[in-house]
Amino acid sequence: ARDLGRDLGRALANATNYEREHRLVQELQELADYKSHLVATVSHELRTPLTSIVGFLELLEGDPGLSDRSRSAIEAIQRGSTRLSRVVEELLVLHRTADSELDGARKVDFAAIVADIVDLNAGPAARRDIAVTGRLTAGPAWVLGAQHELEHIVANLVSNAVKYTPDGGHVLVTLEESDSTVLLTCTDDGIGISAADQDHVFEEFYRSTDPAAMHQAGTGLGLAIVRRIVDRHGGTIEVESTLGSGSTFRVRLPAA
Ligand code: ADP
Repeated sequence: ARDLGRDLGRALANATNYEREHRLVQELQELADYKSHLVATVSHELRTPLTSIVGFLELLEGDPGLSDRSRSAIEAIQRGSTRLSRVVEELLVLHRTADSELDGARKVDFAAIVADIVDLNAGPAARRDIAVTGRLTAGPAWVLGAQHELEHIVANLVSNAVKYTPDGGHVLVTLEESDSTVLLTCTDDGIGISAADQDHVFEEFYRSTDPAAMHQAGTGLGLAIVRRIVDRHGGTIEVESTLGSGSTFRVRLPAA
């Protein structure tokens, strides 16, 4: 009877522990949902007034009677609102990609996306004497996914590569297909990422503390979004980098 009592006591304690853990998981989930809802609502609410701020600034800018002081104030407000708009847009994308389930996926030619984005970036980069080159698969590279999200991966990696590369540098984007995997690499000979920072660059809001990187404006959300999109598409992403000599980002996606 004593043994039975002890077993019963243990069973009861286990049940209580289980219940407590279950409640904790539930509370954490509710908190995560609330955070996500709050971020989405605030971002949406900020979007409308921001659009009118940007619109009115353009109107003011066109006024020929502006003093130099007013003009430089308007330019400062413009820079601030551009930055704010970028944060808001990225927060909205972060919210949209929070779900690990991807719906509405279809067969997309990843090679065409990469070629377009290399072309789009080559012009502006050339103004800083940076060569953006693509070395892609001969034909299409099919993956199953959402077109705009797949574009987001490439656009973000290439624009980061250009952003964190000093004038006169090189960015090489390659695409290969092997063993039912499509491999995208984006290599630059820019400022590089320290080993300590490499562990964190895919985290939300993480920005390197390296002075060369801090010199550039950013939100620290770009790579977090990229990683989420890659995850949603059943792929992997990794970075290899040496501070001062450049970085390579590798994305592997299952071929369709
Ligand atoms: P952001 O560029 O807005 O700061 P990201 O999430 O895109 O945010 O990148 C996070 C950090 O990773 C950047 O702040 C930068 O320090 C580093 N980083 C990303 N890409 C590169 C790159 N190609 N070369 C060097 N550093 C990079």
